[in-house]
Amino acid sequence: MIQDIAPEIFHNEYTPRNPQAEDVLFFFRSTDRGILLADRDGEIAFPLCREVFPDWFAAGEGEDPAVYCRYLFSITPDPDRPDTVQNFYLWNMDNTEEAAAFLLQRGYSFESIRTLRKDRPQDLCFAGTTAYHLYVWYDLNRFCGRCGQPTVLSEKERALICPSCGNTIYPRIVPAVIVGLTDGDRILMTRYAGRGYKGHALIAGFCEIGERAEETVRREVMEEVGLTASNIRYFDSQPWGFESDLLLGYYADVEGNDAIRLDENELSEAVWVSREDIEPEESPISLTATMIEAFRRGEVQGKKRTFS
Ligand SMILES: [Zn+2]
Repeated sequence: MIQDIAPEIFHNEYTPRNPQAEDVLFFFRSTDRGILLADRDGEIAFPLCREVFPDWFAAGEGEDPAVYCRYLFSITPDPDRPDTVQNFYLWNMDNTEEAAAFLLQRGYSFESIRTLRKDRPQDLCFAGTTAYHLYVWYDLNRFCGRCGQPTVLSEKERALICPSCGNTIYPRIVPAVIVGLTDGDRILMTRYAGRGYKGHALIAGFCEIGERAEETVRREVMEEVGLTASNIRYFDSQPWGFESDLLLGYYADVEGNDAIRLDENELSEAVWVSREDIEPEESPISLTATMIEAFRRGEVQGKKRTFS
């Protein structure tokens, strides 16, 4: 999956530090969910601090990058060499377009964040989606939701603080479930209605307040396809920065009637697909694809439907 970048190690501890020449600097555009990147022989590249602040890193002149760069996280490329660290930063000023203008003349362009679902290398794609998740949170919380004053960075943890009323705002992570609903050798595949992603999906939905994740599974299955889920068991999880999610994957067996009653507001299609009719997926990026592939390989066995 996209977060599986071993042997590289992702460090999300909040340890702000000053940007260095080879550190990555992310530029995002909120109007179209754009991320600034370049194509280098089929692999993506993000701007480096030395490209954005050439005078500073060449001669110690000009603007101090520390003012413009917000520390996000780091990745250790080689576990045997913990001193070699790639740091990642966010352009933290409002004038993204203006600041990025000269990069647009140097081979960079704003691309949809969705492109990171299929680009290479995977470590940079994961870094980009995780940075986007943080960007969205920072961007939506520039002002205090309680009193409307501008927020400031906490000095001791990843949080935004309102200096006026003391409100502390922590990163927003939205839990959602993915459900591999099975009936013996069949799994229920869906397509979303009215969304950019047109591929096959599984039943999915956000956890509601006051609900256990297993209850979300049961409710979403009933709401989206009118079926009863039983034998609900946890599979794996995935951080999904595209939508600020933490995805929780469950398999469940359908119980009783298998006749689908489609919620056409949510889905354009829901069909039972036999194990042997599923297309193989060599290196699945998403939890959904991983769950479909695990079922196809027979690593997950669903019970044959019981009638009650
Ligand atoms: Zn406040």
